Amino acid sequence: MKIITSIDELKTIIRKEKQNGKQIGFVPTMGYLHDGHLSLIEKASIENHFVVVSIFVNPTQFGINEDFDVYPRDLERDQKIAEIGGANIIFHPTIKEMYPNGYRTYVEVEEITEKLCGASRPGHFRGVTTVVAKLFHIVTPHRAYFGLKDAQQVAVLQKMVKDLNMDVQVIPCPIVREADGLAMSSRNVNLSPQDRKTALILSKSLAKAKEIVAAGERNAEMILIQVKKTLATEPTVIIDYIEIVDFETFERIDILKGRVLIAIAAKIGKVRLIDNIILEDLPSCI
Ligand code: AMP
Repeated sequence: MKIITSIDELKTIIRKEKQNGKQIGFVPTMGYLHDGHLSLIEKASIENHFVVVSIFVNPTQFGINEDFDVYPRDLERDQKIAEIGGANIIFHPTIKEMYPNGYRTYVEVEEITEKLCGASRPGHFRGVTTVVAKLFHIVTPHRAYFGLKDAQQVAVLQKMVKDLNMDVQVIPCPIVREADGLAMSSRNVNLSPQDRKTALILSKSLAKAKEIVAAGERNAEMILIQVKKTLATEPTVIIDYIEIVDFETFERIDILKGRVLIAIAAKIGKVRLIDNIILEDLPSCI
């Protein structure tokens, strides 16, 4: 497996692979890979002949007071994990390679980017869509793999691809969790041992929501009350948002039906974590 830092070099390699009829799979990441990333790389390796994993901590998707500087990085470790997953290339550009002096072009998806994480992280999705659009143009993949841990990101990217007629299939992949239920995240390494225990309350409160829905509750307000009650058992957790939305529109809903997303963002210690569950095919009552 090769590490490539130059856009031109990567384009040349991809062109050759495509000339030989190879299907290209792509997994964009910010590195510090874990089993969640690995699941994406493995799926890409199964479904494509040639797999590119990008590792780029993208500055344009971080706000000024966010964790860009302390975001974990370890290329050597990432290399081993990407190799295990069957990747052929790691694309690891510098910030200058991606955003040279005078860079002025941005991609913006409207409306759904104003909700949930978009509301609390202004400019975040503009950074995501810009870097992913650039990466799609560089890698020109047939398929690109994204985790549903970032469910809103998946929806935003699907909208971008549709609206801009991009020739790539966005493939959503399930959330991979630690044995105790915590959603895997590169940021988990920045949790103190105490905060790591506290962080479990996110997946626990989502499990509580699932349980209530399974028991027949369809009223969003009632479910939110129970979720908030569960979260309140860990008083150090600072909730950013807890929302129940339609998975298509990301609009808040009063009564659960169809495909519904229950999403949480919260700060635990210095670390902002997100988690969610998607409830499918909900009949309006049971
Ligand atoms: P990141 O490196 O955090 O930007 O994530 C890169 C890709 O991996 C994104 O598509 C994420 O949604 C996905 N990802 C991150 N954590 C997980 C997880 N626990 N399970 C599945 N996919 C994940």
